Amino acid sequence: MAAVASKSDQGPAKIKVEANELAERILALCAEIPQGVNDKVLQASMPEVDPKSRALAINHLLTNGKIDLLQSERGLLYKARTSTSQVGTIKGDAEEKLVYKIIEEAQNKGTWIRDIRIKSNLVQTQLNKALKSLKSKKLIKDVKCVNSTRKIVYMLYHLEPDSSVTGGAWYSDQDFESEFVEILNQQCYRYLYQKLEKSRECTSGPLMAKNISQASSKEVLQYISELGISKIQLRPEDIEAILDTLIFDGKVEKTLALAEGEETRLYRAVESLIPVTGLMRMPCGGCPVIKECSDVGSVNPIKCSYMKEWLS
Ligand code: SF4
Repeated sequence: MAAVASKSDQGPAKIKVEANELAERILALCAEIPQGVNDKVLQASMPEVDPKSRALAINHLLTNGKIDLLQSERGLLYKARTSTSQVGTIKGDAEEKLVYKIIEEAQNKGTWIRDIRIKSNLVQTQLNKALKSLKSKKLIKDVKCVNSTRKIVYMLYHLEPDSSVTGGAWYSDQDFESEFVEILNQQCYRYLYQKLEKSRECTSGPLMAKNISQASSKEVLQYISELGISKIQLRPEDIEAILDTLIFDGKVEKTLALAEGEETRLYRAVESLIPVTGLMRMPCGGCPVIKECSDVGSVNPIKCSYMKEWLS
């Protein structure tokens, strides 16, 4: 004998389907009219629906973050949410959702607790509670800022912090990896110097020899990647920063070339043909921070390691 569902089994299931269908209809209407729909339009589009069911469906859409309620000259408007915000999908109270939304907006640059407090208008205890709960759910994380040991910013858990927060490839837990930078510096120069030596064997003219001695930052990056000396994924910009230090040291020169319609930076090792005089070796001539250098402030000739080296 087939099982017969009791009245209480059928009731709630039927109401749920109807509520979902109604929510879908309201959502479709909001998508059709992107400026937003008011209660009158909703009523006219679905006259058979009683106001209570309509209100339930609207509440369902609002709490799930599918629509927004806006105040306009035409009264209250329901508007389909177009942003990719995930705040509607997270579980938590209103404070947690508000804090999550503020942190989400900050993207991978993160936001400071003081800014969250100002934007959310929450008192410190409420804010701490919301942050603690979001952290325990692995929805957000705190990241130490490289430019201040005490500054912590919050960002979504899955995001990779921006290099302005971490200091980029040259920092690990706020410490500048000077040894790693020095090794990269040596290896980049070694690669370009090998190319320079190879170019000397070229018998097809000076232009061809110059072409052989040059390499783009992507080629240098490939060489560094193949050496396996970096545990992190370096980008061409990171290698360009290293190559720039070699340019400032007078070991490398850079030229711009057009390749497939795109401007490419080409680097080559250089060797001076004549010995340079002491005055010509003075570091200030090619110094990138010469405008900031003075007898007051943190950039000054007394602290300058290039100046010390030149004078020694
Ligand atoms: S003293 Fe040092 S920091 Fe100042 S301009 Fe010269 S090289 Fe640059």
